[in-house]
Amino acid sequence: MTPRRRNRRRLLLRRRRPHLGPTVASRWPPLPLSLRHPLPLPSPVFKDPGSVPENWRPAVTEEENLEAGGSSSSIMTSSDHVAPDALVPTWSSDGLERKQAGYCAHCQNGKPPRCHHCSICQRCILKMDHHCVWVVNCVGAHNYKFFLLFLVYTFLETTMDTLVLLPNFIQFFSEAMNHSSSPGNLAIIFLAFVLNLAFALSLLCFIIMHASLVSSNTTSVEVYEKKKTIRWRYDLGRKKNFEQVFGTKKVLWLLPLFSKEDLENIPALQGLEFPTRSDVEA
Ligand SMILES: [Zn+2]
Ligand SMILES: [Zn+2]
Repeated sequence: MTPRRRNRRRLLLRRRRPHLGPTVASRWPPLPLSLRHPLPLPSPVFKDPGSVPENWRPAVTEEENLEAGGSSSSIMTSSDHVAPDALVPTWSSDGLERKQAGYCAHCQNGKPPRCHHCSICQRCILKMDHHCVWVVNCVGAHNYKFFLLFLVYTFLETTMDTLVLLPNFIQFFSEAMNHSSSPGNLAIIFLAFVLNLAFALSLLCFIIMHASLVSSNTTSVEVYEKKKTIRWRYDLGRKKNFEQVFGTKKVLWLLPLFSKEDLENIPALQGLEFPTRSDVEA
């Protein structure tokens, strides 16, 4: 190949390459990088949100059993079978729901407090927050922390992408004015920047919303219910509410892990029982 032809070939190749700068071109694909991030993404996808154990029934205290006309010697436990009617929520004199356990006609099984039946998953999910189409899974008691970490890490990554692409986006306008780049290259730069920015802003809104939910110990499906009450029964104070989701070990707060002690000592992480304000104040 003659030097002239070699130079011409090099010029042609350079024209075909997107104008993303020498270091960026090979490393930064146009789509948000979070879509292919290996670590936080699989956690909420594969982690089970939490199912109700087969034949689950709520534990009935001696006091409740006596009120219901039972004898003191026949205290019911979570393994005892209770008629579905007995699991319908009851209301105390102050108007607060006292026993939130119910019965799911679809699963034909008891329903612990804060549990909801997901029509997409076709099963009851413990402390169900919502069914997320992005992770193709329900978000519940067992994977809520994983989901929140997924939001935070994806937000950080898309924000970083946006900042790295910003100089190229500014350059995009000057090249568009001068017609110095091909329409395909301009479209790639434009799409990459706008998509990353849109993802980052949407995730930020979502993070703010969930931070507010965590601080008041509320799930997305309980927001309407909470509005109807004066004092939300699961609100134990910000610190305790945070620990109900993230655990007490600071070193594990940013990791999709729980310590053994937290799993044993925080019943909310198991998703079957939840302390209420009255438990804390008593
Ligand atoms: Zn169900
Ligand atoms: Zn679901």
